[in-house]
Amino acid sequence: MGGEPTLHPDLPGAVNKAKSLGYSSITIDTNGYLFHDILSKVSPDVIDYFSFSLDGATRKTNDMIRGKGSFDTCIQGIKNAVLKGFSTSLIYTVSTKNINELDKIGSLLKNLKIDRFFIQVIGIRGKSAESRKDKLQVSQKDWLKIVPDAAQKIARHGITVTYPKVFLSPSEPFECAGLVADNYFIFPNGRVYRCPLCEDYPLHSMVFKDNLLSNTPKINENDFFTLNIPEGCVMNKLIQPENLSYNPNGTPKYGIACCMLKEEIRKIQ
Ligand code: SF4
Repeated sequence: MGGEPTLHPDLPGAVNKAKSLGYSSITIDTNGYLFHDILSKVSPDVIDYFSFSLDGATRKTNDMIRGKGSFDTCIQGIKNAVLKGFSTSLIYTVSTKNINELDKIGSLLKNLKIDRFFIQVIGIRGKSAESRKDKLQVSQKDWLKIVPDAAQKIARHGITVTYPKVFLSPSEPFECAGLVADNYFIFPNGRVYRCPLCEDYPLHSMVFKDNLLSNTPKINENDFFTLNIPEGCVMNKLIQPENLSYNPNGTPKYGIACCMLKEEIRKIQ
């Protein structure tokens, strides 16, 4: 979770162990640096995907967001992984800075032989939110106008595209994955979360201690999952209220979907 996993010299041993334990799918997220010659130390039989991150279809936009040189590093990393026979995916975090490049990225993905493309929505929380002058979160209007069409266009390049639902129309039901799904986000410090939005806070509902998994005392994320509010996701209302918009009578204009609710467009051949 987070950081650059290939920095850890024991990563090949960890993924081989995970495979031998029976994990059915293993993906390594990377910024493209692929430290410790990781491509030579794991095999495509063990790794389902190397998943790269790019936040622009052009060097200019990506490097403005992710740092100078990151575009070229990522592209080279993808090429090296593909050459070694690995399947690759790419994550693109949509913000006001790069949403207009989304529909230009399809041919780049195709040329790089990317298998899967994941669109994410930017999450702005805590100090990073306070320090930003520019609004990075995309409005409901722009998201709905651009993202579903761009996803269709990219799928026509033979790439499966996944993007988060984000905004619910009034007729769409809201469901919290903390109540209806089994996801566990395990951190090196032993915390285990059911909700990714809680990860910046000590709200984990479980913890690994002395090699045992146990429930944490109240108040924890489980207590939020059961709150029923017209805005939908409680954690969004608490930590990302900029995502919400209200009518003059105080009712929300739309609900916010669980961040784990995704739309998938299968590759169109
Ligand atoms: S993102 Fe919101 S809806 Fe999804 S698990 Fe967390 S609290 Fe529940």
